[in-house]
Amino acid sequence: MTETKEYVPPVIRAEELDSKFKYKMSKKHGAEKVMVCFQCGTCTADCPIARFSEFYRPRRIARMVQLGLKDRLLLDKALWLCSSCFTCVDHCPQGVEIAGIVRVLRNMAVEDKNLLPLVYKELAANLMKTGFVYEIPESRLQKRMEQGLPPLPKTNLKDVLKIFEVTGSAGLLEKVQTIGKVESK
Ligand code: SF4
Ligand code: SF4
Repeated sequence: MTETKEYVPPVIRAEELDSKFKYKMSKKHGAEKVMVCFQCGTCTADCPIARFSEFYRPRRIARMVQLGLKDRLLLDKALWLCSSCFTCVDHCPQGVEIAGIVRVLRNMAVEDKNLLPLVYKELAANLMKTGFVYEIPESRLQKRMEQGLPPLPKTNLKDVLKIFEVTGSAGLLEKVQTIGKVESK
């Protein structure tokens, strides 16, 4: 039987702490209540990702924001493991929205650190090319027809591209560096 090693986070150094970070975060939509997290752990206990990962702990994310460990949070690949299922949001006794906090941190990782997992970049490229996040092969479309399924709805590529343009996402996608596979352990 193989033994699972317990994950021990690296020692926190005083120079890593950004005391203003929690105030900056609490001004962002979805992260307003981060300061009232009292570390009960309900979010981690109920999180489906934490169940399979030694690294991903929503409670820890809230604490790291409170402590101001900005760079550690933004550079951590585990940030991209959250599936945005919102279980933590439904169950938090303090009304803290971890899923919203993760979204804000991901946006910061892209804007401030120019980092994005490869899979997200590919999904965005597909969206800009076809209007769907997955490029659907002709064989799949043929199979739908054979099964008597209705054709896929038409996408409005012009509007999709407009959204990428006005949000600045197209420019950001060009300059981001991709990070490799996001491991769950
Ligand atoms: S459930 Fe809410 S209060 Fe409890 S640790 Fe998670 S975010 Fe903090
Ligand atoms: S939204 Fe993310 S952090 Fe919250 S329970 Fe789901 S996977 Fe876990």
